[in-house]
Amino acid sequence: MRLSAGEEVVSHCLKCKDITNHIIIAMTDGKVAKVQCNTCGGRHRYRPPEPAATIGAGSRPAIKKEAGRQAGRTVKETKAAAQFEALVAGRDPSRALAYAMDASFRKNDLLDHPIFGLGVVTRTIRPDKIEVQFRKGNKLLVCTLPPLKF
Ligand SMILES: [Zn+2]
Repeated sequence: MRLSAGEEVVSHCLKCKDITNHIIIAMTDGKVAKVQCNTCGGRHRYRPPEPAATIGAGSRPAIKKEAGRQAGRTVKETKAAAQFEALVAGRDPSRALAYAMDASFRKNDLLDHPIFGLGVVTRTIRPDKIEVQFRKGNKLLVCTLPPLKF
């Protein structure tokens, strides 16, 4: 759509402090240059309405909330990755034990999980679970723990 002088356009009006209908009174290089406010009659430079103003007031807090949740998760993941890096530092990934429910693990064992990847056993939970720190966070996995020595 090509606009030309005499046509109506929506612009921000400083006098009305609002977005109002304006009549185009001057064009420069195919762009609206000067407009006249239909409400107050004031002539001024064309000020396109800001995109934020077109978003309903109700939808803005929702976006903010979503962004906050996103940031929270990123921080958690960064922390998990840092913990993971510290645990695997200096260890040989090729010597990681393949994870299986019937395999046996001890604390500090390096394991290789088909979905979560490389992980380090941070805790053993009797009778049949291990807590494993992966790059994306820690998980409880079922396994067979070695028998307790008395
Ligand atoms: Zn006005």
